[in-house]
Amino acid sequence: MLHHDPSISSDPIENRPENHGQSTTNLLSSRGQTIEAINKLQKDYFDAGHTRPWETRDKNLRLLLEAIQDNKERILAAAAKDLGKPETESFITEYGFSLSEIRNLRKNLKRWMKPKRINPGILISPGKTRIVSEPLGQVLIIGPWNYPIQLVLAPLVGAIAAGNCAVVKPSELTPNCSKLICDILGEIFSEELIAVFEGGAQTSKELLNYRWDHIFFTGSTKVGRSVAERAAKTLSPTTLELGGKSPCIVSEDCNLKLAARRVTWGKFMNAGQTCVAPDYVLVHHSVKSEFLKLCTANVKQFYGEDPMKSRDYGRIVSKHHCERLVNFVESGRVYHGGVANIEERYLSPTIMDIVDDNDPLMQEEIFGPIMPVIAYDNIADVIKKVREKERPLALYLFAKDEKVIEDISRNLSFGGGCINDTIMQLVNHNMPFGGVGSSGIGSYHGPFSFDTFSHKKALVVQNSWFDIPLRYPPFNKLKAMVFEGLLG
Ligand code: NAD
Repeated sequence: MLHHDPSISSDPIENRPENHGQSTTNLLSSRGQTIEAINKLQKDYFDAGHTRPWETRDKNLRLLLEAIQDNKERILAAAAKDLGKPETESFITEYGFSLSEIRNLRKNLKRWMKPKRINPGILISPGKTRIVSEPLGQVLIIGPWNYPIQLVLAPLVGAIAAGNCAVVKPSELTPNCSKLICDILGEIFSEELIAVFEGGAQTSKELLNYRWDHIFFTGSTKVGRSVAERAAKTLSPTTLELGGKSPCIVSEDCNLKLAARRVTWGKFMNAGQTCVAPDYVLVHHSVKSEFLKLCTANVKQFYGEDPMKSRDYGRIVSKHHCERLVNFVESGRVYHGGVANIEERYLSPTIMDIVDDNDPLMQEEIFGPIMPVIAYDNIADVIKKVREKERPLALYLFAKDEKVIEDISRNLSFGGGCINDTIMQLVNHNMPFGGVGSSGIGSYHGPFSFDTFSHKKALVVQNSWFDIPLRYPPFNKLKAMVFEGLLG
């Protein structure tokens, strides 16, 4: 199941400042086992069929659900330590989200596991055809730091529901959450089913030197590309949940007050470190100055006059990341905010008045609490501007005009999004979550997770009492006529 490829060694991304990764020669799981030992354990466990029955999958999901509930306070505390995450935000996005994903899987799993009967058609009748969902085997899940609990657990529960064993590698940049994931999973699962490897890029790279039955990666497009290169060498299938610049379009006819409130909320949640946050805002020139004023008023209403004192405003993950964001702020016209304290990993909610697309803020994903606002003249220009960039993970449009809504939602390609809202495309667990183009490959959540972590096996069950000789040589005119009638 897992094969080592020692030839893989080069990688474009090196020397991350917070890389506390283990050495490549001494990669050990959280309970001190080598990757080779884990591979053997998990392969034997999987091949023995232990992960397959519905009862086992459901029991494991229940165990995880209860463990998350039992560890609620520790989850909120770890997210607060690592990211200064406000308690209510963590409750919703880390704790509650993970629980509701498990509940949805448990509710539907039995039904999704059932083989799906397909019409056999005349060529197979009276035989039967069905699609069987089978587990893939051993999957690798690599997580990011911005929602460090949810973005490891949500794919993991999909992998468990589909009957797989898993190796999990949380982000090194949120060490308290990473340790907590080890503790929670270690308390309820044996490493035969779930093993955790802590560490940074080096640990990831070492794990990626093996062939996996599936790799589920969440992180930046740059690292995702490197993961895909490594996976190609071992021919491991991948799901890549990546990032990019997600546009938000505010047209002149929308409910501007509501738009400003929802955009401000979506942008500054988790201090802007949300993969589906509106990255930049394109506003019709006629309402731009009013929009800027309304967003500023919302920032004050949400986080007070001094957001540093607000219990509802988070921190940047590291000083290094904070410095990068401060450089952006110094490069342009600050309309509101721009107050930083790098030692405290703090940058206030910042609104920037941007004149054109050449601004440094428009060259890469911001991934922080900076909202560039740019004026546009007409929707055709907006479509052109968005198309000039890579296809985004999310897109948001605030408008009333049905033609504009139709134009944008039909003519632009994006992972998912909202009309007259932000972020809410993630709330329904029966909708796929994933990118398109350079913002990702594949999707998950609910039934889409089950499908991502399952192989769809096509099965024909033929009878053995009846055999039409039509398909067998030698062929003749009569057979040719029948085929002509059936297929021609
Ligand atoms: P990242 O790509 O730097 O790191 C993600 C994971 O990859 C971490 O576990 C890290 O240790 C590991 N890693 C780092 N360098 C590596 C390398 N060279 N080879 C293999 N693994 C390596 O991403 P991040 O900084 O943790 O997260 C921010 C990015 O993730 C943003 O671009 C954001 O948009 C994106 N993101 C996407 C989603 C989504 O669901 N689409 C969700 C959250 C974040």
